[in-house]
Amino acid sequence: MASLKLCPKCHTWNNDRDYCEKCNHLLNHEIARKIEVEIQEEKEANRELDAVDIFIHKVKNSRFLLVRGVYYLFYSIWFIYTVIVSIGVAIIAAGPG
Ligand SMILES: [Zn+2]
Repeated sequence: MASLKLCPKCHTWNNDRDYCEKCNHLLNHEIARKIEVEIQEEKEANRELDAVDIFIHKVKNSRFLLVRGVYYLFYSIWFIYTVIVSIGVAIIAAGPG
């Protein structure tokens, strides 16, 4: 089935096209989203490590068992905390519905 898409840029109606035939503007939302995700992933990959990341990396790979132990202890606490928050949100969301 053919579907008409209105170009938001030049207001031309396009028949089943991913790109506007007049101005070549991207009309397909799925492609647009994919491109956005790719750009985001690239940004994330090229991001320079900040002080916190470096600190965590150091602690995680420390040669002292105690330091690594403290890291995993805090990591477990954080994990449990997120689980509790998720359950809380689920209960709140289920309530009024
Ligand atoms: Zn257009």
